[in-house]
Amino acid sequence: MTESGQKITFDDGQLNVPDQPIIPFIEGDGIGPDIWAASVRVFDAAVEKSYDGQKRIVWKEILAGEKANEETGEWLPQDSVDAISDYLVAIKGPLTTPVGGGIRSLNVSLRQLLDLYACVRPVKWIRGVPSPVKSPEKLDIVIFRENTEDVYAGIEWIGGSEEAERIREFINSNFNKSIRENSGIGIKPISPFGTKRLIRKAVDYAIAHNRGTVTLMHKGNIMKFTEGSFRDWGYDLAAEEFGDSVISEEALWEKHDGQVPEGRLVMRDRIADSMFQQILLRSDEYEVIATPNLNGDYISDAAAAQVGGLGMAPGANMGDSVSMFEATHGTAPKYADQDKVNPSSVILSGVMMLEHLGWQEAADSILRAMEATIQQKKVTYDLARQMDGATKLATSAYADTIISNI
Ligand code: NAP
Repeated sequence: MTESGQKITFDDGQLNVPDQPIIPFIEGDGIGPDIWAASVRVFDAAVEKSYDGQKRIVWKEILAGEKANEETGEWLPQDSVDAISDYLVAIKGPLTTPVGGGIRSLNVSLRQLLDLYACVRPVKWIRGVPSPVKSPEKLDIVIFRENTEDVYAGIEWIGGSEEAERIREFINSNFNKSIRENSGIGIKPISPFGTKRLIRKAVDYAIAHNRGTVTLMHKGNIMKFTEGSFRDWGYDLAAEEFGDSVISEEALWEKHDGQVPEGRLVMRDRIADSMFQQILLRSDEYEVIATPNLNGDYISDAAAAQVGGLGMAPGANMGDSVSMFEATHGTAPKYADQDKVNPSSVILSGVMMLEHLGWQEAADSILRAMEATIQQKKVTYDLARQMDGATKLATSAYADTIISNI
């Protein structure tokens, strides 16, 4: 099957996508096989229909998680990591986090091994999806979460360990601090390199998609030299690299009386805790958000809840040339092999992937068809239980209905 396809390549910052690109996929564990089987049929139908058979994705299965462990004895075979790095674009279902065995999380390992430093999460309501807020249509944001640094870097030691005690004593005796005995210790590194490449990606995206603002979400009022520096480096980057296209909020008011000059987008910053109120109370004032790892983890899921929850939330992990698109929920093992759960998170991740390939027509056709399906109240159990008069469909039947609406 894969012999007929070609590799996507990356030259001079540009992705070159042939008409029959080979794209590796990881089916995923638990509910993964059900939602992948449904999603891939939707992708193929949309591509076939949008390009009259001129384009086609040549899928290449790669192994990770339980299936990999059963077949190869490894949770994350090197071949799979190499394939993603080689083919540049991949898509995956959810993976089990192995208990014990030295791997913290397969998803985190993949992000680190492939240096996928930006977790990109668009959050936009699809008409008809049940939401806990009055005006879910007002939220239309894209979150860029830094993926490699912060307290999530995995640099931490259990309280009372030799390492933790040595660090505690070093800090207490050299810097006049008083960390308590037996404290667990974690390190929060945030670098100008890691910060600037993340914010550069967010600004590039905002420019390419005609978004008006990039908001740096941080807790720099308290953590001045990590999160505060994230903010400062963001403004430095804007001045150094985007002088013609970005204006800071401060300059906007000082020099332009709050009127955005033609062709500029505004960079501003907001404190993380207030952002959780802002996205609820003033949802339409935010467009692109760039933030360190921990804030990004929290705000991504909080925002997803506003538009229908994780079953509807797509995501991607992106590096300079490699991108991996993925469901944002887990493996929901209690629903495995029941043809029951909502495949929309993987389908919408595929929509992001098609946009990334430049196959906008196919991406748009899936979005329209999903919206039509939800308008017809033909949905999986998770949405059906929140909607009056809904027809509850199996995963596969929901995919069939989307396909018939394409
Ligand atoms: P989970 O798998 O996301 O499931 C939690 C609940 O969310 C489910 O019981 C279900 O709610 C709902 N849900 C999740 N996916 C859904 C879907 N597609 N359609 C409808 N409802 C859905 O979280 P978990 O049980 O905490 O984690 C299970 C495993 O997944 C763990 O091993 C975890 O480490 C892993 N995980 C992987 C990823 C990833 O691969 N990116 C992310 C998170 C977790 P109801 O019971 O209310 O129906």
